Amino acid sequence: MEFSEVNDLREPRPHIRWGWACFGLVCVLITATTLANATGLIDLTGNKVLRAQVEALFDHREQAISEADPVGFLQDVDRTNLEFVVRQLTEFENLTQLPLADFGYTVESGRFNSAAVPESLLGEHRKQVHVMAVTVHYQITGVDAAPVAAAWLPVVGLVEDTWKIIGEVTEAPEEGGPLPQGTNGQPWDGGTRMSVIGKEESIVLMVPDDDVDLGWWLSELSWEALEAVMELVPEAEDLGVLITVARDPNIEQAHLTYTPERIGTVAGFTVLQYDQVPEWHAEAKAVTSRIIINEDAIAEYPAAKTLLAHELTHAAMNATGQPTGRPPLWLVEGFAEYVALRDAEGDLVATLAGITGGAAAAAGGLPSDERFRSATASDAYVLGWLACRMIAERYGEDRLLALYRAFDGQRDQDTVFSEVLGASTETISRDYATYAARVAAGQPR
Ligand SMILES: [Zn+2]
Repeated sequence: MEFSEVNDLREPRPHIRWGWACFGLVCVLITATTLANATGLIDLTGNKVLRAQVEALFDHREQAISEADPVGFLQDVDRTNLEFVVRQLTEFENLTQLPLADFGYTVESGRFNSAAVPESLLGEHRKQVHVMAVTVHYQITGVDAAPVAAAWLPVVGLVEDTWKIIGEVTEAPEEGGPLPQGTNGQPWDGGTRMSVIGKEESIVLMVPDDDVDLGWWLSELSWEALEAVMELVPEAEDLGVLITVARDPNIEQAHLTYTPERIGTVAGFTVLQYDQVPEWHAEAKAVTSRIIINEDAIAEYPAAKTLLAHELTHAAMNATGQPTGRPPLWLVEGFAEYVALRDAEGDLVATLAGITGGAAAAAGGLPSDERFRSATASDAYVLGWLACRMIAERYGEDRLLALYRAFDGQRDQDTVFSEVLGASTETISRDYATYAARVAAGQPR
């Protein structure tokens, strides 16, 4: 199965500009080959007593969230680790800020690789220490149609003959693969107190508590951006989305476990959410998307709106049945750029001149998926956008959208081109190279 998909990791590159909108983007699309149960889960079915005792701890927490009871939430947390206690309290406050229609913990039937236990938690007073594999299920009112799953790896230890939550795994063990994607990267994680904006709405933002003004501004921009998306993708009207403005770099890192080389280079991204943790359940199904924006990478207007429109396009297309039979990346990213920049006026000639090889880069045909993962990935966005623009101009925007949708259930580009555009890949590639050359020369297209 394919999972752990992160659309669109964006890296601002100021020397490439399309009018006022920054174009420089980098995408990494993660298709993990890790199979379920390959991430270090050790069978616990033979240890029913441990599992039952530990489950009680998470039942207490679940109840504490539903009753907004901080004392109950901390009841089973080991008090000797003060830093962890403070982070737990922040987590509680953040969780209870969210309008939750559903919330619960599932202790998985296997425990995680015990080599992941941080050294500091292996104190002598603890007779036994285990890493539990716990799934957090939560559903945000007005946003999620069903609960989504997030992986959590709490460490439980026997403290004076009582099981306590003594910490959590923050780093993958040297052997056994990365932590499940998103571990410690949830909107309530990161140790920053968060505020929620738009509790009654279908676009909810979670922003650092001391940056609420930014949150309101982004909220307003999100609605404007969504309107732009709706002009092309009518289903976006029904879109529910949570946008997290992340301060802690660990939030980003948690989602880039399969592409650590991208850490520290992205402004924002859209990440699929599943009904179960895909690394632990091969049958996990996509439910919705979350958008994460790095707080220190938020650009000024209108680039921030472009970023939001791009991400919202991904979320809307994911909601319409993608990424099953996912289209090629030039279409996924090019379409998101096309929607986000549809009304922009800009200097086409300068835009094309700004990429490696200029317009001639289009002579090689539509950019491959690999190109979106290469050092010249930001150029691939321009090339993908240009292809979408050509198709929209020559065949109409309806046909561009139809082309995207036609990949649902099948991935063969020749078949889709022939069905939707009545043209072969060869013809489209040739037209595309000519189109790029004309655009670059400022000639009629
Ligand atoms: Zn993207």
